Amino acid sequence: MANHTGNLFIIAAPSGAGKSSLIGALLNKHNDGSMQVSVSCTTRAPRPGEHDGIHYHFLSAESFEERIEKGEFYEWAKVFDNYYGTSKKVIEEGLAAGIDIFLDIDWQGAQQVREHHPDTCSIFIMPPCLATLEQRLRRRGQDSDEVISKRMAKAQAEMSHYHEFDYLLVNDHFDDSLAQLEHIVLAQRNAMAVQQERHKAVINELLG
Ligand code: 5GP
Repeated sequence: MANHTGNLFIIAAPSGAGKSSLIGALLNKHNDGSMQVSVSCTTRAPRPGEHDGIHYHFLSAESFEERIEKGEFYEWAKVFDNYYGTSKKVIEEGLAAGIDIFLDIDWQGAQQVREHHPDTCSIFIMPPCLATLEQRLRRRGQDSDEVISKRMAKAQAEMSHYHEFDYLLVNDHFDDSLAQLEHIVLAQRNAMAVQQERHKAVINELLG
């Protein structure tokens, strides 16, 4: 029997913890259409190599604020002086189609999503140490020193919310973290509430 309700996953981390690479690798491995990452809207400028509609929907502040007014966001937050938000329509349609949706969002957005959708499975990813975090931010080479030190300062604020999440991954070795992430996601597909809904007819038949 088809599952018409996908699972909602939140993946949060300080910038540079390896979150985007892990989500990308998981989706590459499960490229059967059962998993999708939500493309957020943002008012920050695109980085080199980023494309509108693929990495983000890049909006002006005016257009973003108009969408807030219209209630078009499932959640939104101001991060590093820019707006970031998740489109309500995309989430609702994806979940209704039985697709597992991944939200790559910050802790503020995570708090809002848990309120709308208490069954959300949330995962926090940490780097193995601060030095590695800084190295990873520098290796990107796309932001000024000022932006990097601001992000380092914000990283600890982001990490202070780790205990609000259901799972914690410390991303030291990429392949190990990917395997752990995959296990969490696949296990969530078999969570009691999810399975009861998906197999309602079978359970009713079995129990008579
Ligand atoms: P970046 O500018 O490096 O792509 O993202 C900065 C931060 O904003 C990251 O922690 C990222 O997870 C968060 N972020 C990206 N999209 C969203 C969103 O739609 N909502 C919220 N609340 N945070 C987001």
